[in-house]
Amino acid sequence: MSKKTVALLSGGLDSVLAAKLIMEQGFDVIGLYFTSAFSKSYGSEHQTHAARVAKEIGIDLRVEDMGQEYIDLVRNPVHGYGKNVNPCIDCKIFMLRKAKAVMEEVNTSFVVTGEVLGQRPMSQRRDTFHVIERDADMRGMILRPLSATVLPPTKAELDGLVQRDKLLGISGRSRTVQLRLAERYGIHGFSTPAGGCLLTDKNFADKLRDLYEDTQAVTPNDIRLLTVGRHYRIDAGVKIVLGRDNRENNVLMSLAPHGYQLFMPDDFPGPVALLNGKPTQDIKQTIGRLIITYSKQVPGRSYRIRHDNEVFDPGEPLPIHDTRLKQVGADG
Ligand code: SF4
Repeated sequence: MSKKTVALLSGGLDSVLAAKLIMEQGFDVIGLYFTSAFSKSYGSEHQTHAARVAKEIGIDLRVEDMGQEYIDLVRNPVHGYGKNVNPCIDCKIFMLRKAKAVMEEVNTSFVVTGEVLGQRPMSQRRDTFHVIERDADMRGMILRPLSATVLPPTKAELDGLVQRDKLLGISGRSRTVQLRLAERYGIHGFSTPAGGCLLTDKNFADKLRDLYEDTQAVTPNDIRLLTVGRHYRIDAGVKIVLGRDNRENNVLMSLAPHGYQLFMPDDFPGPVALLNGKPTQDIKQTIGRLIITYSKQVPGRSYRIRHDNEVFDPGEPLPIHDTRLKQVGADG
C-alpha cells in the first residue's frame, strides 16, 4: 500500500490542519473539495479558501461536484436538518461515499477529515460519527487526526500505517489549539466555519423550502436563482424574481435562457424580472406593474415593458402590499 491518502478539505481551518498532520507522517495527500449548487463559490472553486490552503500546505486539490443527486438529497434528508436546511449528517455521508471511490482509486485504506469531537451539535458527536461511518460504509476507515486519541483507533492506526501517538485529542468548541497550530504551520487562507454553505443561511432556507414545495425537478439554475433578487410567489407554479441592482439584473439575464421568461423595462432605468411559470396576460401585467413599482418614476412619463418580441403597457405601479404578492425570503 502506498503512502498516499485522501483528505477532505472544506476551506476551514480544521480540515487543512488534519491534512497537514497526516503529511507530517510522510503521506502524500490529495485534497478533495466537494462543491454543489449550494456552495457560495459554485463555479469558481479554484478561488476558494480550500484552493488557498491547499496551496499553502503544498497539496493538489481535486474538485468534485455533488451534482443533481445532492440537490435531490437536500429535499428530503434521512437524518434531518440542522438549524436551517443544512442536512449535515447526510451531506457528510454523501461526501464520504464519494471519497471512498477516490480512496480506492489512489489505493489507500483511509480518508482524513477535519472533524473534531463535540465541536458541532449535530454532526460532530460520538454517536453521529458512528452513524456516518456505518451509512457511508466506511467503518474504521475515517481518520480524524484532530480528535483521534479520544476516538476508537482506526484500521490505519491498528495496522501501524499511522502513528496514533502523533495524532491529537482535541474535543469541544474551543479553537485555541487549532489557531496555535495554524500559526506554527503558517496557514492563513482558511475560512470561517460553514461560511461557504448557503444551506445554513435562514433567508436562503426560506426560499429553498418554497422552491422544493412548488417544484418537483429542481435544477442548479433554480438554486442559483435563489441567490439573487426579490422573490414573489404569486401562485403555485408562478414565481417572479426582480433584480435589485445592475449585478443582479445581469445574473437574471444570463439565467433567462434556462427555462425562464425575461421581462425588461423598455427604455427606462429599472429592474429586470424573471418569471418561473406560465406568462398569462394577468401575470404579465403584474410583472410589468412590479417593474414600474421598483423603478424611478417620473410624473407624466409612460412605462412600457419588453417580453419576447412584444412591448406592452402594463398600467399603474403595483402597491408592494398588494395581496396577490407573497414575498419569499427577506430582502437582505
Ligand atoms: S454546512 Fe453545508 S456543506 Fe457543511 S456539512 Fe452541513 S450541509 Fe454539508
